[in-house]
Formats: sequence, C-alpha cells, structure tokens
Amino acid sequence: MKPVLARRLNRLPPYLFAEIDRVKRALVAEGKDIIDLGVGDPDLPTPPNIVEALYRAARDPSNQKYALDYGMDELRAAIAAWYDRRFGVELDPDSEILPLIGSKEGIGHIPLAFIDPGDTALVPDPAYPVYNGGTIFAGGEPFRIPLLEKNGFIPDLAAIPAGAAAKAKLIFLNYPNNPTAATCGIDFFERLVDFARKNGIIVCHDAAYTELAFDGYRPPSFLQAEGAVEVGIEFHSLSKTYNMTGWRLGFAVGNADILKGLSTVKSNIDSGIFGAVQIAGVEALTGPQNYVDEHNRIYRERRDALVDGLNAMGWKVEKPKATFYVWAPVPDGYTSASLAKTLLERAAIVATPGSGLGSHGEGYIRFALTRSKERIREAVERMARIL
Ligand SMILES: *Cc1c(COP(=O)(O)O)cnc(C)c1O
Repeated sequence: MKPVLARRLNRLPPYLFAEIDRVKRALVAEGKDIIDLGVGDPDLPTPPNIVEALYRAARDPSNQKYALDYGMDELRAAIAAWYDRRFGVELDPDSEILPLIGSKEGIGHIPLAFIDPGDTALVPDPAYPVYNGGTIFAGGEPFRIPLLEKNGFIPDLAAIPAGAAAKAKLIFLNYPNNPTAATCGIDFFERLVDFARKNGIIVCHDAAYTELAFDGYRPPSFLQAEGAVEVGIEFHSLSKTYNMTGWRLGFAVGNADILKGLSTVKSNIDSGIFGAVQIAGVEALTGPQNYVDEHNRIYRERRDALVDGLNAMGWKVEKPKATFYVWAPVPDGYTSASLAKTLLERAAIVATPGSGLGSHGEGYIRFALTRSKERIREAVERMARIL
C-alpha cells in the first residue's frame, strides 16, 4: 500500500530551501567552514538561573504529571505582572492569558478555532510561514497582503480589496517583523483595530521580537491600542527573549473568547506544558532581566558589524531597530535564490532567500545575526571578495 497524503499537505507551498539544504549538506560533508546566518535560532545559551529553576522543578514529582490546559496559576500570574510592567496593560490572569507550547503552536492552531473550509485569513507577504500553513490546515484560503518597502513593510489596509476584507475571519501581523525587521507604531495598531472592527476580523499579532530591540527603541504591544482587546490577541514567546527556542514556551494574551476558542482546540490535541518548563518560565519572567539587555547589546554589535561591513562594500543596507535579522535588497544581476546559492557555493555562507517567505520577498535576502561578531566579520570579508 502506498500512503496517499491528505490534500491539505499538497496545498502547502513548495519548500524553496531544499536546494540550499542540499548544497549545505554537501559542503558540510566536504568539511567546508560554513557560516550559517540562515536560521533565526540564537547561538547564545539560556541564562543559568532559568536552567537551575528547571533542574529543581524537574525533581518535584508534582511537575511530572499532565499539566492543566491554562497552565499553572504562578505562570499566568508571572505573565500578567511582566505584561503590566513592560506594556502598562493589565490582563486578567484567569481569562486573558493562555500559555502555549511555544508561540508557533498557538499560531499554527488558531485557524482551527476560527476558520472553516473556504474562509479567508489575511496573511502578510513575505511572512513567517506558519500563518499560511495553519490557515491551509484548517481548510482556509490565505489571502496574501504585500509588505512593501515604500510603506516601511507595513501593510496598506486601505488597499485590501473590500471583498477580501469582508470575507476574512483572521488577520496575522508581526511587528517587530520577521523577515523584514520592520517596526510599527501604536498608530498602525489603532488603524488595525478600526479595520478589524469594521470587517469583523480577529487580529492575531505575533510579538515574538518585542524584547529584541536596539538604540533605546521599545517596541509597542498591539494590546496598547485602544479597543485592541475587543478584536484580537497577541502571541509572545520566551524563545528569542531568553534564548529558549528548544524549551517550547510561549503565550497568547488578549480577548478572552478568542483565547477560549484556541484553548478548546489545544485541549483536544495537547496535554499542557511540562510543569518544570512552566516554573523555569516563571523564573525567566520574574528573575533578573539583565540578560535581555546584554543579549541586545551583543546583537547590536553584530548588526553594526554586518550592516557597516555591507555598506563599506557599496551594498546599501539599513540598520534595523529591532529583531536579529538584516533584510538586504539583493544586488543587481541576482535574484534572491541565485544570490543565496552564490553565497553558499562561493563563500560558504548560508542566508535565507526572501522569495522563500512569499513572492514579495523576491529581491531580498535575510541574514540572521545568530553568529558571533567575529564570524559575521569573516562573512563580510568573504562576501566582499566574491560580489
Ligand atoms: C521564532 C518565531 C516564532 C516562534 O517562536 P516559538 O515560541 O519558539 O514557537 C514566532 N513568530 C515568529 C515571527 C518567529 O520568528
């Protein structure tokens, strides 16, 4: 018997990184010294107080059982306190906070709660691929809204066709943005609330990078916009803030009814977050925060090493105010894919072609600042030699 894949899997867009992965594996096998600026996975370790909290909590038998759907009271209280401290927004820990097994889990599952077959979700282009994939898994139709450089990579809500807006059930957004590193102000979030109210659309704002910012910039929360809690939720992640990508801990905050829908889906799929990871999350959110500043200082140095280096070789690239990505326009004579391939084959540098993240990503390449300043300098030297 040959297993036949469900149609939903065939509806996923083709995986555009296959060729890069193949060449990368071949170079690794040859023993080449590869500088991987491809994946957005921090190279720095989780702060030691968080790891210690996990050790202690793992020994406690009460943490070795199935966890509750809404997570531990202590974790929701820690999230509420952190949110209030950071954004000045008060949340009801019992109904307006939902811990997640990483924010990707919640983002991937939310369409199952609100999208019926044939419904539309508005999805930025380019974007983190999970908005698109989750919508497709729910039987929905992603309607891509372009992020254009001339608009600061913020979608022009007025340009969304009235028919598409009227049909849409969800809109996904993400600021500070992966992959473009763009940021937005509360004014955009306020326009978004208006747009969502008028069209009856649920806003899902992905805030994975609010703590990763430079030069004194403090990214806002969607929930700081007037009326936001009536129309949407925001996804947060401990992954990038505390170098905890492997731990799987995130949370959603905002509208209680929307969170209830998501939690109903989850309670039929997962059985909560390992208790010791939740307690480590409490330590991350309530313990010393000096690591966050320290990480941001390191990323800023790397950003400067890369962007100053690229500009010195005549490649016009802007310095991002947030995220650990640099979104660079590809030089004349290349496409996103051909540049990524050239960098890999001739300089052993991995970078992400923008076209892999949506058709409007064509013409750009994404560098992740997840390698040391010295390695980034070495990457710049290699690029200067071949471009
Ligand atoms: C890394 C990332 C996430 C996923 O974070 P997890 O909490 O580790 O699942 C979500 N959204 C964006 C845009 C990201 O870059």
